[in-house]
Amino acid sequence: MLYADVILPLPLHDTFTYAVPEDMKDDIKRGCRVVVPFGPKKVYTAVVCEVHDRCPDFAEVKSVVTLLDKKPVVTDKQFEFWRWIADYYICSVGEVFNAALPGGMKPKDGDAMKADKKRRRTKSAVVGDLSLQIASSVLSEAQSKAYEEICDSFTTHNVTLLHGVTSSGKTEIYIKLIKKTISEGKQVLYMLPEIALTTQITDRLNKVFGGDMCVYHSKFTDTQRVRVYQGMLEERPPMLVLGVRSSVFLPFTNLGLVIVDEEHETSYKQQEPAPRYNGRNAALVLARMYGASVLLGTATPSFEVYHLARKGRYGYVQLTKRYNDVRLPEIQIVDVKELRRKKLMKGPFSDELVTAMRDAVSAGEQVILFQNRRGYSNFIECKCCGWVPRCEHCDVSLTYHKESNQMTCHYCGRTYAIPDVCPACEEKRFINKGLGTEKVEDLVISLMPEARVLRMDLDTTRSRLSYETIISQFADHQADVLVGTQMVTKGLDFDNVSVVGILDADTMLNQPDFRSYERAFHTLSQVAGRAGRRGRQGRVILQTHSADTDIIRQIVNNDFWGMFYDQMQERKLFNYPPFFRLINVFLRHRENNLLEHLSEEMAMRLRTFFGDKVLGPDSPPVGRIKSMYIRKIMIKVDVKAPTDAVRSCLSSVRDQMLSQTVAHGLTIYYDVDPM
Ligand code: ADP
Ligand code: ZN
Ligand code: ZN
Repeated sequence: MLYADVILPLPLHDTFTYAVPEDMKDDIKRGCRVVVPFGPKKVYTAVVCEVHDRCPDFAEVKSVVTLLDKKPVVTDKQFEFWRWIADYYICSVGEVFNAALPGGMKPKDGDAMKADKKRRRTKSAVVGDLSLQIASSVLSEAQSKAYEEICDSFTTHNVTLLHGVTSSGKTEIYIKLIKKTISEGKQVLYMLPEIALTTQITDRLNKVFGGDMCVYHSKFTDTQRVRVYQGMLEERPPMLVLGVRSSVFLPFTNLGLVIVDEEHETSYKQQEPAPRYNGRNAALVLARMYGASVLLGTATPSFEVYHLARKGRYGYVQLTKRYNDVRLPEIQIVDVKELRRKKLMKGPFSDELVTAMRDAVSAGEQVILFQNRRGYSNFIECKCCGWVPRCEHCDVSLTYHKESNQMTCHYCGRTYAIPDVCPACEEKRFINKGLGTEKVEDLVISLMPEARVLRMDLDTTRSRLSYETIISQFADHQADVLVGTQMVTKGLDFDNVSVVGILDADTMLNQPDFRSYERAFHTLSQVAGRAGRRGRQGRVILQTHSADTDIIRQIVNNDFWGMFYDQMQERKLFNYPPFFRLINVFLRHRENNLLEHLSEEMAMRLRTFFGDKVLGPDSPPVGRIKSMYIRKIMIKVDVKAPTDAVRSCLSSVRDQMLSQTVAHGLTIYYDVDPM
């Protein structure tokens, strides 16, 4: 009798053993998908990780229902990689499996099962003809030099950081490296943050690599993603994968190079659900498994990466000039505090910004306005008593959206009607507080009625199409001004933008997070980098209340080193990354008092291992989401502490906590290297 140990796509820690029916025994292999019954009624798609003849020691062994694959769809390397993710991020392999395979490959019911079979019969459309078109552009001298340095660095380092200012032509260097790797018969993974993976970059690479390339994006339909996954398993798989963080889960055969563009991007980190992995760090591990080189590219390196580059652990190559010697944009600070005092502001706009916008638009140039808040106003407030509407299920005020004329909770997504009267004092008038992109758009239209304005934020880009449409309309100069959240900062390349306006730099600086300065530097430098990419030097107007602070000066002077040096002193003093690793523990329960008590107990248990490096429990800034109260405990772990020991200690503390009857209804999860 044969048995199959399988992984189920669930947060369960073990594999499960099923009997293999006679008619499957010749075909079933490690890496094949099977349908298995689980619990009294359910069936799941699982993946076989071992086939053996050891009879399990429990009485009732259930049988595999269906074998979905004749050939494995999960490779040995993938199993090894899944194990690493599960261990490092303290979750189950089942959760990794669930994230790794597109939904369409894990059908749950009979109908979906049939659909899946049908889909597998249609041949993959991704792999096309293999002849390369020759790229058009000869690199510049600086680019060639950087290219040579990278190739040299690859001979001595597994990982190299390419630190090149915005618009220095990093992408062209990537293209040359990709060609070289493909010509050696090896595959390339080119990773981008979700939001930066646009048609702009896809088209650019498609021109060069055509049918050799496939794109893996979470906005793709399930069918498309299944097709890409299956295409990777074919005899002649795509040689270049351009994808978001989840592309690390694709079945590569012969990976030779991994490029992680915009490596500093915090969106490489998956927040919810588990596995809460960082795509960049996972890619480093993936590359090591294949002996592939890694190139991390950015204009503003993350501290973790820059620190290792400085220590010589990573290779380091720099590009200090923009392509074609275009100068970096001039950043002009506008001291809003002073102007407000003198009543010289037009709403959120200084005269400087208004003039710069008007001049640009009348000269046929374009403007980007950055405000890192969507909606119309952050919240509304009763004019008489100051009452503020809040979400019933989350501890947070509601954001007012004018277009839909309702209030939205940005944590649970629930919408509410605007109240007719204040429930506290029956006043009928409300005031809008704070500034969102919707309001900025309105104000620009009233200031410059002749200008054509587009807005790009989560609300206008719910569908992939509209995101692409906004970018292409702006690129085609169908609009003069683009108002947006951080979405406008991500790697977009527009020819004609001469002015970038940052309406309020302070909200970014004032975040209660040890990374807030680092992040503000990244975001503001990136948004500034959208100005003057081709031709003339661009101009950035940065409005702030903190004009005379070091961090603003460092942003203006593009003084990455100064910012890094200052912040590193603090990180060292307070035991933060990259000197210590952080692991956050989140506990959730419907009952606030019980949660309070349980989280105190958990912190106490953790202190027996980690001593005073355990902080909390605290309520996070939003202490209740979707009716669940939340507590957070932070653990600062010595970078030299053995990860295995740390992990097993954390798993056992969690299991002890959850095994108590009083803990019924409690959820606990770890967030390793939180962003
Ligand atoms: P980065 O990725 O560093 O921000 P890009 O690779 O997007 O920079 O390059 C900026 C602009 O310069 C792009 O529009 C690109 O087409 C152009 N460019 C860069 N290198 C070359 C080259 N060698 N030949 C022609 N154009 C180039
Ligand atoms: Zn009131
Ligand atoms: Zn809510």
